This record gives sequence, C-alpha cells and structure tokens, in this order.
Amino acid sequence: MSPNYTTKASITEPAKNIVCVLAPNPSPMTHKGTNTYIIDNGEIAIIDPGPLNEQHLQTILEKTANRSVKYIFLTHSHVDHSPLAKQLSAELDTPIYGFGASDAGLSSTMLSLIDSGYESGSEGIDHEFSPDYLIKNNQSFDLNNKIISAIHTPGHMGNHICFQYGKILFTGDHVMDWATSMVSPPYGDLTQFMASCRLLLTKDFDLFLPGHGDPVINPGERIEFLINHRLERECQIKKTIKSIPLTTLEITEIVYTEIDNSLIPAATRNVFAHLIDLNQRGLVDFLGDVSEKSKARLIDQ
Ligand SMILES: [Zn+2]
Repeated sequence: MSPNYTTKASITEPAKNIVCVLAPNPSPMTHKGTNTYIIDNGEIAIIDPGPLNEQHLQTILEKTANRSVKYIFLTHSHVDHSPLAKQLSAELDTPIYGFGASDAGLSSTMLSLIDSGYESGSEGIDHEFSPDYLIKNNQSFDLNNKIISAIHTPGHMGNHICFQYGKILFTGDHVMDWATSMVSPPYGDLTQFMASCRLLLTKDFDLFLPGHGDPVINPGERIEFLINHRLERECQIKKTIKSIPLTTLEITEIVYTEIDNSLIPAATRNVFAHLIDLNQRGLVDFLGDVSEKSKARLIDQ
C-alpha cells in the first residue's frame, strides 16, 4: 500500500492535479457510474468523457471552463466510455485520441467470430467510435512539460489503452477494484487480457485510477489477484472436460453452480473466453468450428 495517495474517501480528487467526475449512469455493469478524469497541469487532458448525457457534458464543461483542453483520450469504446467524446470535442474544439475503432486490435480468431455472426453480449459496443487521432502503443503526449504515455492493453477490448502519468496509471476497465474485469468475446479476448496484466506487472505504479469505482491503491497485488482468479477458473474448466468433451453451456452449468439464472449468459461468455484462450494455447480443441455450440475437448498433454 502506498502512503502517498488518498484512499476511498477522496475519489473525486484522487491525486494532485487530477479530478474525477462521476457520470450519472450507475448500473450493475458500471458500478457507481463511469469515472471521467480531468488532468490539469496548466494544460488539460480529459480521459473517458463517458456516456451520452447532457448533465455530465455540462459538468465537464464547467470544470474545464476557460481552460486550454489539449486532449480527449479514450481508454476504449464501450458505450459507457466513448459516446460523449464527439459532442465534447465539438464544444471544446479538441481532438479525440484513441487506439482505433471498436474492432481495432482484435485477433484474427475474434475477427472471424464477428464475420461468422457471433455478436457482442450486453456490454454495449460503440460502433460509431472513430478517433481523430490514432494512438500507437508507447506513444507519449506532452501536457505542459509532463508526459502522458499510452500503453496498449487489449483484452477487455482490442482497442483498450491505459494512460500513464508519473506513477499513476489510468486503467479504464482493464483493472478495477470492485470487479474482475469483463472479458467477453468477440470484442474481449482473454489471451490478450492475461498478456496485458503480465505486461503491467513488469512496470512500477503507485496508484491505479479505474474507469469505474474507487482508486486502486495496491496495483501489483490487484493484478496478481486478477491473474490468479482467471487461472483458478481455467483449472476448473479443464477439470470439467478432462474425460468428456462438452459445449460451452454444459461447462458453464457445471462450473457455475451458485449463480442466478439471469447471469448464465454472461458466465457462458466467460467460459467461452477461456475455451478460446485454451484453444489459442494448444490445450483445447473444438469438435467443429470455434463456437459456443461445438464441444470442447482437452488435448492430452
Ligand atoms: Zn468497458
């Protein structure tokens, strides 16, 4: 735990020169709502304008009134993060910076799933998202002599980026404190997600500021927890198909015994994400196409 940063009480001003504006869109998926961050170092950068919402737009405009807003950055293009960017950009005359459109950064497996008609779940993809400026991995941006660096962290979405500012990382939906980030094919990719987690573990951060929920004051521990959580689930799935090939739904019903029926579709997508990851790693094959309906078989090691 770092003593240098504030804890849950001051989410609205989590660190020096950084303000968090909470969008009024609470839900089971978004927790208390989307966090829009404003970094003010003389010049201003805004991270994740949020959903289409007039009240939220006005609050952001009030907080940045008569100031020089240099960047509008997007961590990714889910509908709770990106749609307000266009309107905000027009109001402020500031360009939108993002990795790319909603299908940018996806693996060929995920692109073929989309081609085959497999649609996204309930998470809401902003198909209109089109940044003015395409960010490259590791690209740096000057904010009045301080640097904001982009780290491409695909997994939650292929176009997901985290933004580093000193030892603070704006983690979008990649790492949060209150939920183990959703990874839902075809726009979410578990192989990429795990690689992005491991990449962040090689770097030194004091504080994560996520797209939803409170600041994460134990970054390394939280990433390790997320990795281990996924590895435990992977173990359960492998055990289930050890002696008999099963469909994604059949596996879900065995692995998730204690969840409400309404959560089965999301759990099924999660199991599918694991199966695709295991397939990419040569540990599982599908008896047929890569699809939820094909039985998945554990390959003898
Ligand atoms: Zn998201």
